[in-house]
Amino acid sequence: MKSLRKELWFNTPTRVAFINITQEVRTAIKESKIKEGLCLVNAMHITASVFINDDESGLHQDYKDWLEELAPHEPTSHYRHNRTGEENGDAHLKRQIMGREVVVAITNGDLDFGPWEQIFYGEFDGQRKKRVLIKIIGE
Ligand code: ZN
Repeated sequence: MKSLRKELWFNTPTRVAFINITQEVRTAIKESKIKEGLCLVNAMHITASVFINDDESGLHQDYKDWLEELAPHEPTSHYRHNRTGEENGDAHLKRQIMGREVVVAITNGDLDFGPWEQIFYGEFDGQRKKRVLIKIIGE
């Protein structure tokens, strides 16, 4: 069995951001030379997500609005977690809703996607260095 491990690094200029990482994942699959297998992509931080959906700006704004309604950033005193001195209580909750990771089948050396599927990094407590793990296994 072959495998490949790779990290992607991010430092988003805004606290909340969605970044399409599909091409970076495809590049990693090419580097792995794996034709049939599985590809795991996960956020390595508990205030960030990796998820699959449409690359459509209206949808992304809908996500941001919906998440802000569910878990508003302010008032930060609203969250027990912030009693630790942090201000990212909302970011932990947003990450939980949007998920930690995705697993995608690799068929014939590429992501075996349905129509419109794209992989995104979801940042909810940005403006600092954070990373995503890609692990690919197969033959
Ligand atoms: Zn925290």
